Amino acid sequence: MTGVRHSVCAHDCPSTCALDVELSSPDSIGRLHGAKGHSYLEGVICAKVARYAERVHHPDRLTTPLRRSGPKGSGQFVAIGWDEALDLVAERFRDAATRFGPQTVWPYHYAGTMGLVQRGGIKRLRHVMGYSGLLETFCVAIANAGWMAGVGARRGVDAREMAESEVIVIWGGNPVHTQVHVMNWVQKARRERGAKLVVIDPYRTPTADKADLHLALRPGTDAALACAVMHVLFAEGLADRDYLAKFTDKPDELEAHLADRGPEWAAAITGLAVDEIVAFARLYGATKRSFLRVGYGFTRHRNGAAAMHAVSCLPAVTGAWAHRGGGALFGQGGNYGLDATLLDGLDARKAGVRVLDMSRIGAVLTHDPQDLAGGPPVTAMLIQNTNPMLVAPDSAKVRQGMSREDLFVCVHEQFMTDTARMADVVLPATTFVEHDDIYQASGHSFLQVARAVIPPVGESRPNHFVISELARRLGARHPGFDMTEWDLINATLKASGKPSAEQILAERGLDCIPDFETAHFLNGFGHADGRFHFAPNWAERGPAHARMPRFPDHLDVQDRPSEDKPFRLVAAPARQFLNSTFTETESSRRLQKRPTIFVHPKICDRLSLAEGSLVRIGNEQGVVFLHVHPHTGMDEQTLVVESIWPANAFVGGAGINTLVSAEAALPAGGAAFHDTAVWLRSA
Ligand code: SF4
Repeated sequence: MTGVRHSVCAHDCPSTCALDVELSSPDSIGRLHGAKGHSYLEGVICAKVARYAERVHHPDRLTTPLRRSGPKGSGQFVAIGWDEALDLVAERFRDAATRFGPQTVWPYHYAGTMGLVQRGGIKRLRHVMGYSGLLETFCVAIANAGWMAGVGARRGVDAREMAESEVIVIWGGNPVHTQVHVMNWVQKARRERGAKLVVIDPYRTPTADKADLHLALRPGTDAALACAVMHVLFAEGLADRDYLAKFTDKPDELEAHLADRGPEWAAAITGLAVDEIVAFARLYGATKRSFLRVGYGFTRHRNGAAAMHAVSCLPAVTGAWAHRGGGALFGQGGNYGLDATLLDGLDARKAGVRVLDMSRIGAVLTHDPQDLAGGPPVTAMLIQNTNPMLVAPDSAKVRQGMSREDLFVCVHEQFMTDTARMADVVLPATTFVEHDDIYQASGHSFLQVARAVIPPVGESRPNHFVISELARRLGARHPGFDMTEWDLINATLKASGKPSAEQILAERGLDCIPDFETAHFLNGFGHADGRFHFAPNWAERGPAHARMPRFPDHLDVQDRPSEDKPFRLVAAPARQFLNSTFTETESSRRLQKRPTIFVHPKICDRLSLAEGSLVRIGNEQGVVFLHVHPHTGMDEQTLVVESIWPANAFVGGAGINTLVSAEAALPAGGAAFHDTAVWLRSA
C-alpha cells in the first residue's frame, strides 16, 4: 500500500509542522511535505525533514537491543533480545536502589521528541519510583525566567499577525536556520505592507542578510541595547504614556532609571554605533505595529534572563501590545491548558525527592556534593531523547562521569550517538513516523495528534513501550503504564476539556489561540495585578535572584574577555542539524561540511589565517580544533561556531561544548552556551 499519510514533526523546533508523508511501501516512507492549507505553516517545512526517509531508513539505525561487551565507550556491543535487555535494566535499577535508595537512579531526558506521550513516560516512572528528579535547564530555563518576569504568562501574539506588522524585529534568533515559517510571514509583511525587518544578532546570519537593519552587538549585551532603545523612546516622545499608566507597574521609576542609560552608554557596552541604536529606536517607536519575535539565542548567557526581561519591556513602553501586528512572541506554550497529570504521573510525585540539574550532569556524575544535594551518588541512569555527551556543557567532565565503571547506563536511542556509545545497554527507539503522539507547538498555537504511519523499523520500540515494560518489571503502578498511547492521549484531552484525538486528527489540529484581547494582554498580563512588570519580583523566578536588577539593566556577570582570553565564543545552531540530531545523515553532513569557526577578517589578517586554516581555541576547560571561515558582520572579538558535530568530527576529538561552562545562569539555572571567553591560536 502506498499513498500519503498525515503526521507531525516531533523534533525540537518551534514549528511542530503538520506533515504529509509519502509512503513508498507499507513499511517505508518517501518524501515528506508540509500540510497544505495550514493557516500558519502553509505547507512549508525545512529541507532536512523533507528528506527524512534518509534518516528513518538509514543503514545505521539501531534495530536491536545491545549489551556492552567491551570497555565503556569502546563501541563494542552484542545484540540481545528485548526481554533480556529490559530484565537487565530493571535488575540493575533494583540493585542500585537497594544499595543507595531510589534517588541513586537518575532518569534523564530532554526534547529529542516533543511528543508529550513519548516524553512524559520517563517522568511518570521517576515519580512513581521516587527516582531523582531532573531540572530541565538546557534550553528554556533562562529565557522563560526573563519572559515570565515581565509578562507573567507563557504566551504571546499570534505569529500570523506578522503579516499585518510594519516593523518586525527578530531578536536573538536565526529563523532561516531554525524556524523557516517565520521568514514566510516576514516575506508577507514586506510584500503586503512594505514592512521593515530588523535582526539583532551578534553575527551576520542568513536571516540578518535579509534584514533592512542588522545590529551586530557583542554577545550578551542585549539588555544594554534594550535599555538605550527605551531611553530614546521616552526622550523622543515615542513612549505611550496612556498605555504605560493603564497596563504597566512602575513607568515613572523606569523612565528615571533609564535616564543615564542612553545610546552612548549602550554603545560602549554593545560595540554598536550610537547612530545605529538611535535609528533602531526611532524605527521601532514610529509604529504601533511592531512585532518582536524573541528567540533563545540572546538568552544563552549568564545574564540571559535579565536580557530577556529588558527586551520584553519594549512593546510595553510603546504600547504596541494593544495593536494588531504589534506586541511580542516568545512561545505559545501557555495556551494549551493540557492536564499532564496522567502523562507525567504528577499525582505520583513524592515530597523531598531531590532534583538534579541536567546541565550540571558532569558535576553530578563526578560526585560534586553540592550538585548531589547531599544525597547518594548517581549509579544508574535511563537516558531518552537526548545526547548529553554532546549537548551538555563541559563535555570533558560529562565524559569523565559517564566513564565511571560503577555507573550503569541504559540509553534508548535511534542511532549510536556519543551517549549511546557510553552505555551498558542500548535500546533501539522509534522515530516519530513509527509511533503515536500528541504535540503542542511553541511557534504557533495548534494542538496536534499523529498516528504512526509505518511500523517500527527493525526491533525499535517507542519510549512508551520501554517505560511501561520497565514499570511492570519494577513493580511501578500507575494507570498510564497500562494504557496505549492513543488511550493516554484521549484521556488527557478529556481531562483537559478538549475534543477527542479522533476529532483533532480529522481536523488536522486544534487552534488554541485565544481572542485578540487575551492574546494582546488587554485583559491583563499574567501577574496578579494584571500589569506588565518593569520591576519584577525575581524571587518568584528562581532561587539565585539576589543579583537580578530591580529594573531592566545590563547585568555584568558574563565570562568576561581578558588579555588571556580576548574572544567571545557563540556556539550557534546549524541549518542542517537540529542540536545533535541529523548529524548522522549524509546529506546534512555534506551540506554542513565540517566543524568551522567564523573569524573576523581583521583577526584573520592579524593571525595570518585564511579560509580553511586550522586553528585551536581554548580556555581552562579544554582545547577545540576548527577550520576557519572569515566572516564579516560581527564584532572583531566575536567567534561563532555553528552546529553540534559529533566529537569524532573534530580534529583532536573534542566537541564544541568542551569549552562551554556548566555554571548555572541567574536566577533559575540554565546553560550559558553563548557565553564563553576563549583564546584563539593557529594550530
Ligand atoms: S524541524 Fe521544524 S521546520 Fe523542520 S519539519 Fe520539523 S518542525 Fe518543521
